[in-house]
Amino acid sequence: MKILLTNDDGIKAPGLWAAVRALRQVGEVFVVAPDREQSGVGASLTLHAPVKVELVPPDAGLIGDGASLFPVTAYSVTGTPADSCILALESVVGEVDLVVSGINAGSNLGWDIMVSGTVGAAIQGYVRGYPTIAMSVGAVSNPNFEVATRLLFLMAQRLSDNNRSSSLFLNVNLPSVTLDRIGGVKVTRLGRRSYGESVREEGGGPGKQYRISRNRPISEPVLEGTDIWALKNNYISITPLQIGLGYPEQIPEVEDLLSGVSAQLLDRPD
Ligand code: MN
Repeated sequence: MKILLTNDDGIKAPGLWAAVRALRQVGEVFVVAPDREQSGVGASLTLHAPVKVELVPPDAGLIGDGASLFPVTAYSVTGTPADSCILALESVVGEVDLVVSGINAGSNLGWDIMVSGTVGAAIQGYVRGYPTIAMSVGAVSNPNFEVATRLLFLMAQRLSDNNRSSSLFLNVNLPSVTLDRIGGVKVTRLGRRSYGESVREEGGGPGKQYRISRNRPISEPVLEGTDIWALKNNYISITPLQIGLGYPEQIPEVEDLLSGVSAQLLDRPD
């Protein structure tokens, strides 16, 4: 089995190499990841500049804790997480059996996955028909990747054992705790917002400068069965995703709201 691994925390991120250690036991791993931290860039692409891809020598010291034990082909990319996934699947690596993005430091839950670089990269695997896992641990500083690594190994095995016709896109989030404190695994639905933004003015220089942070708690109730609820209750959350923001239920309402607008615009009867 051929596995593409990417992320948005960058090629040096410990979570990426924790994933390598898990996936090496299941198949041949190709790492194609941004050369720097890119959290929050969502699904953005680099369309107006060339993107450089460089082979990472196994002894570069980039690989982090213990990972030099494993022979793995790794490339760093000057573009975004989504660029990395596209370049890997279209050119550098080619077809694979599984795409993994992560393991991200910090959860990716609810509507917030819209700006997640971890999910943004994974989308590029899913839209090409590959089974895809995005995995995140719910702590930005000092995350515990131990349980995530075990789970990733188990999930990669199951996905490789199955010949399903439609590909799965699974968004996995784990609480950053030790195994004994985890309640279990819940298959969940996507919640709403998990954090709001706060904006702080920063002084200095001409013109105003602001800093946007995603750290404002959301006051709305956390609904049982959602990914946000699972993490809050120390469960691992596995959310099946699809791509599609369309809202066909609203077509009649919008037709009503805009009734006659075509005639008005074109200055001729409908
Ligand atoms: Mn990240």
